[in-house]
Amino acid sequence: MKGISLLSVLALTLALTSCDVHFGDVHYDVPWWVVAIPTALILLTAFIVGGIIISKKKYVCPNCGHVFSPKFYKAAYSVHLNDDRVFKCPHCKKRDLCSPVRSNKK
Ligand SMILES: [Zn+2]
Repeated sequence: MKGISLLSVLALTLALTSCDVHFGDVHYDVPWWVVAIPTALILLTAFIVGGIIISKKKYVCPNCGHVFSPKFYKAAYSVHLNDDRVFKCPHCKKRDLCSPVRSNKK
């Protein structure tokens, strides 16, 4: 799953690199990094922010009932189905679809 998302990011970055900008008669050749670096930064930010938001939630393991918060980098690229996400349980080490804990008692 991580490989697939990295591949799509790479493909997107490559697709955006062939980019010419025209202002009237003036033609600018935009270096690839002018497009690629902001794109990479935006994607990286989205990846980290998304991951941090997910890692704030608690998930319950369907096998042993262990409640845990996933690491943000694991959460960011985890496979998800609606609110449920596939995580490796830190307690029983089984990889399964974990539901978020919905009761927010703080
Ligand atoms: Zn478990």
